[in-house]
Amino acid sequence: MNNVADILTKHQLRHTDCRLETLSIFVTKNFAISHNDLEEILVPTFDRVTLYRTLKTFLEKGIIHKVLDDEGTPKYALCSPHFCSTQEHHHNHVHFKCSECAKTQCLDNIIIPPITLPQGFLAKEFNLLIQGVCSNCSQK
Ligand SMILES: [Zn+2]
Ligand SMILES: [Zn+2]
Ligand SMILES: [Zn+2]
Repeated sequence: MNNVADILTKHQLRHTDCRLETLSIFVTKNFAISHNDLEEILVPTFDRVTLYRTLKTFLEKGIIHKVLDDEGTPKYALCSPHFCSTQEHHHNHVHFKCSECAKTQCLDNIIIPPITLPQGFLAKEFNLLIQGVCSNCSQK
């Protein structure tokens, strides 16, 4: 289990209450969380702007990344410390959306073969979404 304060220290961020609380949500949940869900949990305590800035900082620092699934609203998930840092953000991993529990999670350990684009095409973001039934739900 990642220690929330350690993650902030590692990324040279001050330990504000909003950062600590927001990060602890990402650390305890192993699936992507939408901005709305975060607001529901956090906005009684912190204002919207503070939460927005916190997420922006986390995105820039390589602590969280955007997850696009079929729901239209952006979701966020914790970055893997093996792939992301303040300098580099690598998200060439699969996102899996479960149709039973409606949760989207990162499958960090699946290696995607390098994809060669036609000449003149420049990749900037990578989103691979697989939809199906997750391991939790398939056992029921
Ligand atoms: Zn990242
Ligand atoms: Zn599921
Ligand atoms: Zn991910």
